[in-house]
Amino acid sequence: MILPVYITLIAVQVVGGVWLFVRGLRGGTGFPSCGGCGYDLTGSLGSVACCPECGSAFAEVGIDKPRRRQRPLLLVAGAALLITASCSLGIGLLG
Ligand SMILES: [Zn+2]
Repeated sequence: MILPVYITLIAVQVVGGVWLFVRGLRGGTGFPSCGGCGYDLTGSLGSVACCPECGSAFAEVGIDKPRRRQRPLLLVAGAALLITASCSLGIGLLG
């Protein structure tokens, strides 16, 4: 009776840890930004020719494309969950 619960708990930890780790590696979606100052242009892209923050013309400074950024907190959480799962598995095998 205890063994299925134990295996389920470890499986949930492994799946959750891998999911968090992959999400952390892939990162979140970025945003288009001003090539001059890095101002977030979400929502104003296409409606203005100059940066609302620094006033630079996009024809001169350009617009930086959205880039994915890794999420360190998700990486750490995923790694911690995987370590916990491996420790639980090790304890279960030994004890
Ligand atoms: Zn700007």
